[in-house]
Amino acid sequence: MSSSEKRSIVHLDLDAFFVSVECKKNSAFIGKPIAVGGSTRGVIAAASYEARKFGVRSAMPTRQAKMLCPELIIVGGDFEEYTRYSDLVTSIISDRVPVCEKASIDEFYADLSGMDTFWNLQKFTAELKQYIAKESGLPISYALAINKVILKIATNEVKPQGTIYIPAGSERTYIAPLSVQKMPGVGPKTNEQLFKMGIRTIEMLAEVPDAYLIAKFGKTGADLSRKAKGIDESLVIPYHDPKSIGTEETYQRDTMDMLFLNNEIIRMVEKIGYELRSQNRLAGCVTVKIRYSDFNTVTKQRAIPITNSDHELIATAKEIFHQLFEKRVLIRLMGIRLTQLVQGTHQIDLFKDSEKMISLYQALDGIKNRFGKSSVMRASGLRKR
Ligand SMILES: [Mg+2]
Repeated sequence: MSSSEKRSIVHLDLDAFFVSVECKKNSAFIGKPIAVGGSTRGVIAAASYEARKFGVRSAMPTRQAKMLCPELIIVGGDFEEYTRYSDLVTSIISDRVPVCEKASIDEFYADLSGMDTFWNLQKFTAELKQYIAKESGLPISYALAINKVILKIATNEVKPQGTIYIPAGSERTYIAPLSVQKMPGVGPKTNEQLFKMGIRTIEMLAEVPDAYLIAKFGKTGADLSRKAKGIDESLVIPYHDPKSIGTEETYQRDTMDMLFLNNEIIRMVEKIGYELRSQNRLAGCVTVKIRYSDFNTVTKQRAIPITNSDHELIATAKEIFHQLFEKRVLIRLMGIRLTQLVQGTHQIDLFKDSEKMISLYQALDGIKNRFGKSSVMRASGLRKR
């Protein structure tokens, strides 16, 4: 499809998703300030609208949330259940639209371009929302417009249980009066810089010459400039759900060197752990495979509480390996695979992890994203070759 062609896209976003699922499981939570998150040392993964009135936000340390709202009820996450509901909503949407993108566990873009020949799209999306509410019992908001940036802003504006249609041509007028903080991609740091430049609204940002924004923010500046004018040509990318993430290695020389093999486990888990976190997933099962020099191949798997933490995955993989390895002949190949994948982010897994550990993973992955995947490894994972 050419980019100049007007598209029709709907953005559907479940309202306070984790909390909504918890309220379905326990109706006593309805109308109360509740949050899904870790206990004392953890962080908040999601907060109910009642809790948000007190200033409770996701990614906030639980301690701080409790200070803001002493009666806050904290519930541990049930990610199997969230994934089950997410899959249900995904299938409802995918069954009814030509192209569906699952942007996160509770957020979808559907490209309806071309459907307007046969359907009234406003009616179609309204019915889709009703159907999702009826089948899943979960509240959802949506926006219908021509591109993702407008949609993302608009859905946030109308939440919860809101709907909005922005006719083609009126995008810029719609976003113009809103605060620049509402633009996707404007985090606290960029917002502060814009604030210092005297830029408060999206319209003010749209009026700054591109060259100035590019000089100040680089490539991000060019993006900001286009988005502020309501322009976004990014496509709706069809949903793809990998069932597993794994890696394996055949060794040049068959080996029984335990130090080497231990380091290999660390290296492999760090590789797939990074991939897991980049896809915003957590794993519930680890499988180790060993092929001996006589080509006999054995595997063993173990279910674990879902996690995306390298240190937990490494510990499990090592335990499985030591149970599996019979030390009868040399090892020719070793592989590690993660399955039972569910969607979720760093913050979510942190029920057991300390805040310090979370920021460590975020920092490490940030470096990997910028400088390449092999730029950071545990010291012992480095010894391979
Ligand atoms: Mg949501």
